[in-house]
Amino acid sequence: MFNKIKKSIILSILIVLFLFNSESFASDDQFIDIRIGKAHSLNDKISLSSKSGFILKNTDNDIVLDLDEIHITFVNSEFYIINDQNYNKIIELSFIDNYEILPKSNDFIQYNGIPYRGSFKIYNKSNAFYIINHISLEEYLYGVLPKEIPTSAPIEALKAQAIASRTYSLKNINKHITEGYNLCDTTHCQVYGGQRAENSNTNSAVDLTKNYVIYYNDSIIDAVFHSSSGGHTESSYNVWGNRVPYLVATPDPFSFNSPNSNWNITFSSAVIENSLRNNGININSLVDIEILDRTESGRVKTIKIVSSDKTTLLSGEKFRSIMGNSNFKSTLFDIQKNQDFDTNQYSLITENGRTNINFGFGKIFTLTDKGLKQVSNPSIKVLDTNGVRDLTTNNNVSSFTFIGKGYGHGVGMSQYGAIEMAKQGYSNEEILQFYYKDVTISK
Ligand SMILES: [Zn+2]
Repeated sequence: MFNKIKKSIILSILIVLFLFNSESFASDDQFIDIRIGKAHSLNDKISLSSKSGFILKNTDNDIVLDLDEIHITFVNSEFYIINDQNYNKIIELSFIDNYEILPKSNDFIQYNGIPYRGSFKIYNKSNAFYIINHISLEEYLYGVLPKEIPTSAPIEALKAQAIASRTYSLKNINKHITEGYNLCDTTHCQVYGGQRAENSNTNSAVDLTKNYVIYYNDSIIDAVFHSSSGGHTESSYNVWGNRVPYLVATPDPFSFNSPNSNWNITFSSAVIENSLRNNGININSLVDIEILDRTESGRVKTIKIVSSDKTTLLSGEKFRSIMGNSNFKSTLFDIQKNQDFDTNQYSLITENGRTNINFGFGKIFTLTDKGLKQVSNPSIKVLDTNGVRDLTTNNNVSSFTFIGKGYGHGVGMSQYGAIEMAKQGYSNEEILQFYYKDVTISK
């Protein structure tokens, strides 16, 4: 009898504990710390504003400030001062006390003129002072999505992006943990624009997919994405050197008719020479650029730079970053070489008639009294808009046009591919399972 009662008491305690735990888990949103802007240094002043005033909160204290603007000055590595709008000192606080700065009522705090949901924290590490936005993951995603994908995209594409961005955030939650926060607000992590960036379409996509993330074998995946694959996604191995089973190269018929599915850009030889030199690749004059080999997706793996003094091999990714990732949109490209002269437009008229001049490859002719004679070691220089150019060293490619497909590294989800899939009626789950192989999507 006693045993039976004891058992049932233990059982009911367990049930209460279980209910309490599951209840508190369900209502607890995950919070993350986002660094806003760059680190500040000693004596920098920053200002925060809130129409309703501020509450400074920590575990044992609440300080109410009925001010719509406060200025924070970093005194040293231990203290900071909060001033009013006229720079009168209100209070001196220790970083160790770890105050959270909240709006007094249901309002947004503005920093640098941009409203942010959640609260702010001030963090100091070795005299680098960080302004941290402490915010729930879901509200953070409200400010991320409009920066990552056009808000006019079909809802299934926006939902796919919401799940990918949520998964990416959780997977990278420790990216800046040694600096004292989780993620930064730039492309290094994900671009985050605060409450001002929000849009009702993307907010709905976040709400409709609340807590859903992408798993591979019960682990949260690295949900990398890019703007457009240009027709073929790339494997993680070919871009970052690590093999990931769900990030493999695959033909992508959904990324053909979108912005940047086709692009081209022309650089003069002089611009390419300078870009290489500015990145520590010291070459004399540029003679030629050749594609040596390609990855399984068709992206340029190795490129050969021929200059008058040497040959340099670079990875396609390295060459792209040297030429500028936003201009030079992908490594899925061909090269067209442009010469200074259209050789067909230049002719010599001799007694035997008209002869075209090939300025191209050392075949230079002179007109002699015995007719046209090829010169074996000519030295001919011309002055053109790029300066003096030696036509006799094959150095007559004045510019290179790179004709490419797609925008970004090509690994994981193609965002314009996702938009096209959504237009064709695919669901967010089908989109994600097309771009990430053998994954499941669940809460
Ligand atoms: Zn970052």
